[in-house]
Amino acid sequence: MISAEAIRAGDRRALARAITLVESARADHRTQALALLSALGHDRQALRIGLSGTPGVGKSTFIEAFGKMLTAAGKRVAVLAVDPSSARSGGSILGDKTRMELLSRDPLAFIRPSPSQAQMGGVARRTREAVALCEAAGFDVVLIETVGVGQSETMVAEMCDLFLLLLAPAGGDELQGVKRGIMEMADLILVNKADGDLKPAAIRTCGDYAGALRLLRRRPQDPDGFPKAMMVSAVEQSGMAESWDEMQALAEWRRDSGHWSARRAAQARHWFQEEVRQGLLAALSREPAKGIMERLGDSVAAGRATPEAAAAEMLGLIGR
Ligand code: GDP
Repeated sequence: MISAEAIRAGDRRALARAITLVESARADHRTQALALLSALGHDRQALRIGLSGTPGVGKSTFIEAFGKMLTAAGKRVAVLAVDPSSARSGGSILGDKTRMELLSRDPLAFIRPSPSQAQMGGVARRTREAVALCEAAGFDVVLIETVGVGQSETMVAEMCDLFLLLLAPAGGDELQGVKRGIMEMADLILVNKADGDLKPAAIRTCGDYAGALRLLRRRPQDPDGFPKAMMVSAVEQSGMAESWDEMQALAEWRRDSGHWSARRAAQARHWFQEEVRQGLLAALSREPAKGIMERLGDSVAAGRATPEAAAAEMLGLIGR
């Protein structure tokens, strides 16, 4: 058994084992994981920062520089990765052990690569629970990193307080095909690689995005000037302090205005509903529901029942 006290006391091995526990699909592990999460309580809150960007944009370089800046200021930083491609391929882009070498050796930092071989719904639960474990362990900042593909951004945005989008300077004058939905989720757009030969392109790109952000509908959870686009260089470590200032200013404004707790409450409700949905889907693929689904499906296929009537019958059985 992993003790809640050990995790709360900051025992890193206990934390790592607890994350492995919540990543397990075994029924007895699930029971233990739920008991552990309940025992840990919710009295500690970290600043949860989501960070998205396509491969190669500089996420690991940024997190290393940004994380080192925070730990140098005495902050405890946890980094979790969500890599939906690992669910399909079994290999993880974000799981590469050579990433963030300095930060991974930092006693104030904790880095956990993406779990592989899980369904999207499973990844969400694992990550969410890993975040809760890191909060209970007393981390000040939890960074949740994801690659810019599929639904992973939406999922990460649903579990963080601030959402950052990392972009590279664009070659042309296009907005790099960043989907509007993703831009709407971002609190800060960071144009990375604003150094050397890339600086002029970074300035242009940053201006383009600042303009595009101004065209978005004003969100109630934002003070004046947000969402914002700014330039950073992870390699030269410039713009790190400035972006942290912006994050803190936004977080403070949301705390004072009540949007912070309202968002966390809405997120908790969302994940409760999502768990129920996932649980129902899982139940449908298990007996006895699975067999009944098959029989009713046969009836529909043979024309003995309409799809609607058979579905109503099935839903009636579940709803009892
Ligand atoms: P990730 O796939 O998003 O994690 O990207 P990486 O952090 O692995 O960086 C991809 C490449 O971009 C590497 O070759 C980095 O050295 C380079 N890179 C990252 N940040 C910067 C930066 O601020 N400036 C420049 N010029 N290159 C960078």
